[in-house]
Amino acid sequence: MSYFEVKDITKKFGGLTAVSSLSFTVEKGEIFGIIGPNGSGKTTVFNLISRFFPLTAGEIYFKGKRIDQLPAHKICEIGIGRTFQVVKPLRRMTVLENVMAGAFLRTNSMGRARHRAEEIIDFCGLTRYKEREAKSLPIPLRKRLEIARALATGPELLLLDETCAGLNPKESEEAIELIRKIRDTGITIIIIEHIMKVMMGISDRILAINFGRQIALGKPQEVANHPEVIKAYLGD
Ligand code: ADP
Repeated sequence: MSYFEVKDITKKFGGLTAVSSLSFTVEKGEIFGIIGPNGSGKTTVFNLISRFFPLTAGEIYFKGKRIDQLPAHKICEIGIGRTFQVVKPLRRMTVLENVMAGAFLRTNSMGRARHRAEEIIDFCGLTRYKEREAKSLPIPLRKRLEIARALATGPELLLLDETCAGLNPKESEEAIELIRKIRDTGITIIIIEHIMKVMMGISDRILAINFGRQIALGKPQEVANHPEVIKAYLGD
């Protein structure tokens, strides 16, 4: 059995099928990319994994256990963390307080939460901004903070939502460096991105979707050259 498995998942919003019979597996230690044009169902896949919405049909397994029936707060507890495309840190709180909020999932001790948060802040390159209010940070740093908050919850599997959207090429490269560094600590990563180029250099495998369905799955180069993928992106 795979480390993580999505089996035939479907999500309907009224008459709209946002995700349609989608299946994929992710192995431990992998960076697995999901690409697709706007509105193709990427964020819905994350919302289904993190149980923000119930599935219309299908099953999801993590480390051999079925998880699609669990309440949303349990998903984080069992080790699946996530970030959001629209970064919404607790704006009036400092960077340190934001990351500590994540760390409290694993400890009740103020001291331990602070220690853990400081380690993660250093790891994410935010040390200089520790006492800054979250709302005062520019977008690239807010995205780092979003990742730091998710890391503080102690995930084994991390879902990253459009980490590079809105970043310039240099900022994207720095974000990718951080993602690689996270993987090197042993965390498995599923990342969704609209921009295919970002995913090419970082993903071990890529799933391309359009209209909620799989159009290609494989190594980055295979997926990038797939006629269905080229067609989907030309029309975008
Ligand atoms: P992507 O992340 O690839 O841009 P989404 O998963 O956000 O795509 O959206 C897929 C489709 O599902 C879109 O047509 C979108 O309008 C629709 N959708 C997403 N969330 C909801 C919701 N909560 N209610 C109704 N429709 C939704």
